[in-house]
Amino acid sequence: TKNNDSSWIKSTCAYCGVGCGIEAKVQANGKLEVRGDEEHPANLGKLCSKGLKLGETVTTQGRMLSPSVHGEDCSWDHALSHVASTFSDTIAKYGQDSVAFYVSGQLLTEDYYVVNKLMKGFIGSANIDTNSRLCMASSVVGHKRAFGEDIVPGNYEDLELANLVILTGSNLAWCHPVLYQRLKAAKARHGTKIVVIDPRETASCEIADLHLPLFPGSDIALFNGLLAYMAKLNQINQKYVEQHTEGFDEALELAKRFSNITSVSLATGLKTADIETFFQWFRSTPKTVTVYSQGVNQSTSGTDKVNSILNCHIATGRVGQPGSTPFSITGQPNAMGGREVGGLANTLAAHMEFGNPEQSELLSEFWETSNLATKPGLKAMNMFEAIETGKIKALWVMATNPAVSLPESNRINAILASCPYVVVSDCVESNDTLKYAHVRLPAQGWSEKSGTVTNSERRISRQRRLLPTPGMGKPDWWIVSEVAKKMGFEKQFSYRSELDIFNEYVEQTRLGNEVGKSTARALTLESLSGMTPENYQSFAPRQWPAKDGVCPERLFGDGNYATPNGKGRFVAVDFKPPALSLSERYGLILNSGRIRDQWHTMTRSGLSPSLSENDSVPQLEIHPFDAADRGIKDGHLAKVISSIGEQIFIAKVTSTVSVGQCYAPIHWTHTNCSDGKVCTVIPSNTDPFSGQPEFKATPIEVKSV
Ligand code: SF4
Repeated sequence: TKNNDSSWIKSTCAYCGVGCGIEAKVQANGKLEVRGDEEHPANLGKLCSKGLKLGETVTTQGRMLSPSVHGEDCSWDHALSHVASTFSDTIAKYGQDSVAFYVSGQLLTEDYYVVNKLMKGFIGSANIDTNSRLCMASSVVGHKRAFGEDIVPGNYEDLELANLVILTGSNLAWCHPVLYQRLKAAKARHGTKIVVIDPRETASCEIADLHLPLFPGSDIALFNGLLAYMAKLNQINQKYVEQHTEGFDEALELAKRFSNITSVSLATGLKTADIETFFQWFRSTPKTVTVYSQGVNQSTSGTDKVNSILNCHIATGRVGQPGSTPFSITGQPNAMGGREVGGLANTLAAHMEFGNPEQSELLSEFWETSNLATKPGLKAMNMFEAIETGKIKALWVMATNPAVSLPESNRINAILASCPYVVVSDCVESNDTLKYAHVRLPAQGWSEKSGTVTNSERRISRQRRLLPTPGMGKPDWWIVSEVAKKMGFEKQFSYRSELDIFNEYVEQTRLGNEVGKSTARALTLESLSGMTPENYQSFAPRQWPAKDGVCPERLFGDGNYATPNGKGRFVAVDFKPPALSLSERYGLILNSGRIRDQWHTMTRSGLSPSLSENDSVPQLEIHPFDAADRGIKDGHLAKVISSIGEQIFIAKVTSTVSVGQCYAPIHWTHTNCSDGKVCTVIPSNTDPFSGQPEFKATPIEVKSV
């Protein structure tokens, strides 16, 4: 059968947080043939357009082949010594917080683990942040506030078991296509009701029974209205709330501001009849899954939005039950794995916390260090501001492209240009960030590196080596470990392979269960302890927690949460509009996001000719009324003007965006196009709790060119 042909090697897709299993075979011409892995529980053999075309993106063209220092190719030893001595000298002169790392959800868990260990454990600073800050940081904080730990309680299967699925701030059809296909098939089988909450009429609306095109940023008004509605009709699960939760009264008090459906309608712009339909469906459908993604997270009130959703689920006991749970879906292939090893500046490894002496002691003992970071580091935007003000003097960027992906990208470019020392490790030879690198380090890319990733349903899968690495490329964990050794941490970074790191990480997750005595932490991989090379090589996808050989498929279904007292927490949240509002000068709201066939800054997906056939230019979606008002014609040039910059796009006149709103893709960069770089017009306003920037509500004006 298909799966018994040993020339096919199993691995995981390079792109989104669905984490689909693939099988790949090297053809006679050296190209990779890729197909879906029927045995992988995430996708059961299916792949979307991006996954299917992975073989087209594997090339030796455009790859960084050699380390270099100040533009001169050199040996690994020279480049690594240069980085180690410059970081050590900078720390000696200006302190440990004068250096920083900006890493990526594209890293494998083993890479993520090692770089966090070096920075937080041995350099003694937590100035390490990741592009997951742009993706899931609001959900991380929301989960910790409500559940006590950053956990997605459910599984993909829950979307199939539910009778009502609410997609809010998630264009699942384009951003997580295989999961969307699973949902669509479930709807065909048993008529799942689907509500799409999104200012735009996205591709996901194709299967929606109800589309709620709310005003950008007004989600809290809608979900607080839902909580108040459920309370008014005595639909709260009182027994559950009393036994398993705390903070309900305070949360309801604030939610009551929207106890009248007209007030919800005024805040959200939705029709009262549609709001009522949505509320009634939620009330009458215990098996409800609410899926949320960047439309919720990327906001100046992202964390509160997450908690407004979680409040409704906790109040009705709809958490971690089959077909009934909130479900945050991550954007990147290993956003979850990074979160597990403490990839964010404000988190510690294995879901441990800063400011907890017991946890710090355990971690220090485990890593055999006396220099563990004692306080959270700077979150992405603050980190770049600290470079701007001269506090940070050396930056190492790994596997990400902040020069185009952070808001206020012109300013970020100027900051990178002003930074005294920039190291970039990447697998490509040119991108917008590499322009500023004093040291360039060639890393292995997807299909060359080996390790693990964790998808949105807590499922750990292997990425396996499929092809040889061109030039002198090395695994990220190896590059960091070699620098660490040259900085004097020989003993603690003497890894022989990614398996050594995985085994250490597994042991570290045991620490979680030694702290907080009253409750076991959920992140444990105990039963994977001491893996042999053979077991690691043949490792089949599995979810955590992994304890005593048993993996509960869902978490918190029994009402026991990961908080110190075991209770789920309501968070009292109030509706606040986006930080910036419309004015006479800027009369339209700009939303931004992905398109179906491209990924991030296109360094990989842009290599596939067939993926680039559709939507090959950066288009600005604008409503026909707004276009007519401004003399803008479909297919013609349009200039977007915001308070911080201007940018040219091709106008796409369409009523999929509402009147007064526009939408632009995030994928175009200096490297792949002279125009259409959306982050040049997006100011850097962030959520006060998560530090996640607002990408969905920028006031702009648009002019014909
Ligand atoms: Fe890859 Fe995501 Fe598509 Fe699956 S859905 S094939 S993980 S891009």
